[in-house]
Amino acid sequence: MRSASPLRESVPAPLAAREGGRARPRVDRGAQRELSSMSSLTEKDRPIVQLLLNTGTCPRCILRFCCVGSQTLYRHPYKDLMKDLKEFLKKRQEKEDTVCFDVVDPPCKRIRLEHTEEGPDDVNHNGGLQQIPSFNNEDTAVENLAVKVCNVCLGVLQEFCEVDFVKKVCQKVNSADYQFTSFVFSMSLPPQLSVRERAAWLLVKQEMGATACPDCFKPAKNKQSVFTRMAVIKALEKIKEEDFLKHFPCPPSSPKNLCVALEIQCNNGAVFVAGRYNKYSRNLPQTPWIIDGERKLESSVEELISGHLMAEFKADSFNFSSSGREDVDVRTLGNGRPFAIELVNPRRIHFTAEEMKGLQQTINNSSDKIQVRDLQLVTREAIGRMKEGEEEKTKTYSALIWTDKAIQKEDIAFLDDIKELKLDQKTPLRVLHRRPLAVRCRIIHTMKSEYLDEHHFRLHLKTQAGTYIKEFVHGDFGRTKPNIGSLLNRTADILELDVESVDVDWPPTLDN
Ligand code: ZN
Repeated sequence: MRSASPLRESVPAPLAAREGGRARPRVDRGAQRELSSMSSLTEKDRPIVQLLLNTGTCPRCILRFCCVGSQTLYRHPYKDLMKDLKEFLKKRQEKEDTVCFDVVDPPCKRIRLEHTEEGPDDVNHNGGLQQIPSFNNEDTAVENLAVKVCNVCLGVLQEFCEVDFVKKVCQKVNSADYQFTSFVFSMSLPPQLSVRERAAWLLVKQEMGATACPDCFKPAKNKQSVFTRMAVIKALEKIKEEDFLKHFPCPPSSPKNLCVALEIQCNNGAVFVAGRYNKYSRNLPQTPWIIDGERKLESSVEELISGHLMAEFKADSFNFSSSGREDVDVRTLGNGRPFAIELVNPRRIHFTAEEMKGLQQTINNSSDKIQVRDLQLVTREAIGRMKEGEEEKTKTYSALIWTDKAIQKEDIAFLDDIKELKLDQKTPLRVLHRRPLAVRCRIIHTMKSEYLDEHHFRLHLKTQAGTYIKEFVHGDFGRTKPNIGSLLNRTADILELDVESVDVDWPPTLDN
């Protein structure tokens, strides 16, 4: 739910407390009150209630200012709360020192509020405060105050706590058609509320000479804040009380209009899907290939896979990641390359194994350029396993190699005997524009040659992950040492490259 600003914060007060428990009321005077299932206001609260009620503060804000921590009270309808607060003011000390403020079981008899010359004794002891009018008549008072917008919360704790608004939120959630098992309700509040709250707090402090609960009204720490909100909070932290009072009416003025909810927004947590893909095309990039805003090739591995997932999960967007990547002209064969896709804000999140299988089939039927296997739902944490130890993993390749001078079978046979060949690879020229210049040590574990004709042979390699195979074949102008050219004492070039296997044992293999 949004209100007046694109920022979001968890609701600190009763709004959130009722919505599943992430946020708790930020005020809590202590166990004393919580022990009773019926929350109560004590005699000490009477002047605060009187003061705030008469300066145009809503009942729920008053409860906050009285540090009522239990959420039960806040749930009651605005009109009941207003009525009960006034009854509380009317009641003199019936017990020794505590008056029960019990709206769990609202008083059924009609209470006649009589005109009094002054408010309760506790109030108005300070000459600086204007005379606070008392209520003359219950009906008119309730009606008047029922429509009055709270000068502290601008109505956020009035309208938005009422059944009508909750219904509106429910309708929005239902119409958005999400699948979910738990949820967090959060809202963003106008930064102005902090200022008003400060003003109201100063009023209470001034009039009551009270120092109780100063921590109740510290601005909430909010990680998601941006400048405006932070600026307000910072300013409030810095400003001296007397300066604040010069700039802002205290009590806060009564606003004419209710704070409105600009937008009610639903979002679902991301869902993660993993699997392995084969790429059979030498004309297909892994991710969209766009140079200077211009698309070079019409599709990509990630689009061929995620297009279907996006549609089925009804997600807003996706993030694709994989265990390494192949060049546009390199195929990925064998068991394929592990990948994971984060689906952002999905509407649908529940899929059976059978349905995932069907989804995989749909992807595979839609293109002959790629195939997917082991498609499954995974957790965010599990994705780490795909990336961890990536450098230590081995990969196997098959390269089609051309030589300038003619070769015989015997000329290349010695390659099969080379084990654990250490390479020094300077960052290849072709990736230098996006990778820092460095010399990396890589290892070719094993090689196996397959003679084709006088100028061609196939080389099967098992290497450390991260080895640049193309450069190992042609040498990259001497930047990779040794290389196939230098080993054969010929000019060598690579015509085709296939990834035969990516040895990452994640995600789990499925028997499909
Ligand atoms: Zn309020």
